[in-house]
Amino acid sequence: MTNYSLRITWLYPRLMNIYGDRGNVRTLEQRCQWRGIDVAVVRVGPGDDLMAGDTDLYFFGGGQDREQITVAADLQGPTGDAIKRDMADDAVALTVCGGYQLFGHYYRPYATEDLPGIGVFDAWSDAGPDRFIGNVLSETEWGTLVGFENHSGRTFLGAGTRPFGRVVVGHGNNGQDGTEGALTRNAFGCYLHGSLLPKNPAFADHLIGLALRRKYGGDATLPSLDDTLEGAAHTAAAARAKQTR
Ligand code: GLN
Repeated sequence: MTNYSLRITWLYPRLMNIYGDRGNVRTLEQRCQWRGIDVAVVRVGPGDDLMAGDTDLYFFGGGQDREQITVAADLQGPTGDAIKRDMADDAVALTVCGGYQLFGHYYRPYATEDLPGIGVFDAWSDAGPDRFIGNVLSETEWGTLVGFENHSGRTFLGAGTRPFGRVVVGHGNNGQDGTEGALTRNAFGCYLHGSLLPKNPAFADHLIGLALRRKYGGDATLPSLDDTLEGAAHTAAAARAKQTR
């Protein structure tokens, strides 16, 4: 697959990167490289320039409430505007936990002020008195995804976004309605750390394929890879998650 290139923008990697979230970026990068796709990873932090139109695929990981304060403020400026324009133009995004919350309308921490989000998802998150911690299995169109959640935020979806998956094990969005994550256009949000993509390779390829088709048109199909190890990791993690059911 020569002549293809993708640009990944990693949002706030120093502030929003917990429970192995960086593994998602490494997985996307490596699965592109194995196929001869030229891939560049650009890190964007507070105050950095981000131009709409430059990014094919965004990654935005999780973080503590304290880090989210800095990030939420930065997102109210030009960086947030650029992301919103790209998302309206069908750029691909994977957002996890704290990043997912800030792609919604707001995150309301426990007993402090609301942190505004950028409203890509018609979703909002309120911190609860306790945390949802543990392994998660989420049934999605791209198979059963396995990950690890640790959040106090309860996320609720409005009519303008749909759930990314349904929880089989774990709490997911809010511990009440069985939903896990959100999906609007090509933007995905979820609570799955762990990291998500190394042990869910079919979904990693879905993101890469979406980004390639958006950029190059309909016929960009991905050659398959030997996913023996990734499959074994998925099976082991899923078996462990089922024990916590
Ligand atoms: N601070 C947020 C919460 O607890 C996000 C946590 C995270 O990203 N793991 O809900």
